[in-house]
Amino acid sequence: MKILAEPQQRVVKLWGKQKVKAGETYRLMKYVLRVEHEGHTALHNVMTGQLILLNDDEVRLLDALPKAYSEDMEALIADHYLVPEGYDEHKQLVSLRTILRKLTPPIKNITHYTILPTTACNARCYYCFEQGSKIVTMTEQTAEDTVRFIAEHCGEAKKVSITWFGGEPTVAANRIDQICKGLQREGIEYTGMMYTNGYLFDEEMADRARDLWHVRSMQIVIDGTEELYNRIKNYVNPKDNPYQRVMRNIGLLLEREIRISVRMNVDRINHESFEGLAQALTDRYQSRNNLTMWAFPVIGDYSEGDPDKAHGEDAWLAERAGELNDLAVSFGLASKVKSLPSLQVWGCMADGNGTIVIGADGALVECCEHYEDVDEVGNLVEGLTNIDEIASWHEIVYEEMCECCTFAPQCVRLKKCLTYGRCYRQLDNQRYVRTVCEAISMYVEREVRNDEI
Ligand code: SF4
Ligand code: SF4
Repeated sequence: MKILAEPQQRVVKLWGKQKVKAGETYRLMKYVLRVEHEGHTALHNVMTGQLILLNDDEVRLLDALPKAYSEDMEALIADHYLVPEGYDEHKQLVSLRTILRKLTPPIKNITHYTILPTTACNARCYYCFEQGSKIVTMTEQTAEDTVRFIAEHCGEAKKVSITWFGGEPTVAANRIDQICKGLQREGIEYTGMMYTNGYLFDEEMADRARDLWHVRSMQIVIDGTEELYNRIKNYVNPKDNPYQRVMRNIGLLLEREIRISVRMNVDRINHESFEGLAQALTDRYQSRNNLTMWAFPVIGDYSEGDPDKAHGEDAWLAERAGELNDLAVSFGLASKVKSLPSLQVWGCMADGNGTIVIGADGALVECCEHYEDVDEVGNLVEGLTNIDEIASWHEIVYEEMCECCTFAPQCVRLKKCLTYGRCYRQLDNQRYVRTVCEAISMYVEREVRNDEI
């Protein structure tokens, strides 16, 4: 076998090499991905992250599984590609993740902040998860408290990253200005990313985004081509053609070297316009180094029992979004490959250490999509006070549907997550397979070059 990607050292140290049990019958471990490409066979161990290319004898051995132990299996057993028939790899996954979480020292400082300057939005998308939430815009005092809180919690390095979220954050652009000026006054270095609909930008605000807000990347939602977009977004008092305006603004931001990721929330109604939008983006922006596009299934049921409004079955949506993401690759708007999956210890901002969400009313929460009163873990004035609520965001669930999924080590499912019970990661899985294929091709090319020398 040839090693094409090294395993994660922290997993290897903890798990060690597997000892042979002579007399056992062996099978492939469930969390091993087998990929055939250009006449080669590769195995990717999703638990350790190691990727190997097999020789012909090893491929024959693999094809004969399950198989009684023989000496030629030893290398594959040692690195946990083969396991005894009765082995419980899911139990092992739970145990490794639990230990690694316990071994991670608590982070004293908070260096990543998600800030909601407002929960108000100038668009009224029918699928918005914030519908019915209270509308609050940050006061001048809360913005000052935000600066003080960051200064007190960011640690001696005085370096933080900020995600601007909403509502639509640019609706409260003056509060973003105030917070950024406050951080400068305190000598705190900061960089930002922003979730925005992109509508309110103009030359001047695009300058501010780069020069004052230090925003390096933005995610802009465009849910279809012109006619559909203008209908779905349903902007409050639009001044002009919202679609054309957002497209213009993307250009202004790209000119300032801000990376733009266009996201389409796809459902039954708009999925067919993805290609048209990809075409419009590629026609309009010749230099696309900083521009990407991707599809994501609409979360939740907004049909109120009306089948005409239903967004589509989960399984269909996930598959469709996968196809659309492949289409984005063919337009040069998405990367063909991803980094290889391996055991993940933490889920997201909500259970990771060193991050917090600051609501428009000064409440502190763990997840930017859960900011109602019951979710609060503290506030800007008193700090982090609700230890039980913080702990509840660290609770992981292991679902039955995931136990036999090859990618289970990569997925951390938080009990309190909005997407609990649904699988979106399958969207990525085809790209993982492609990444393995790329690694094989690169290896083969290298070998051919070496032979020529
Ligand atoms: S969430 Fe989806 S991809 Fe992740 S382990 Fe479960 S079934 Fe697999
Ligand atoms: S919605 Fe789920 S994945 Fe997203 S931040 Fe909240 S807990 Fe994490």
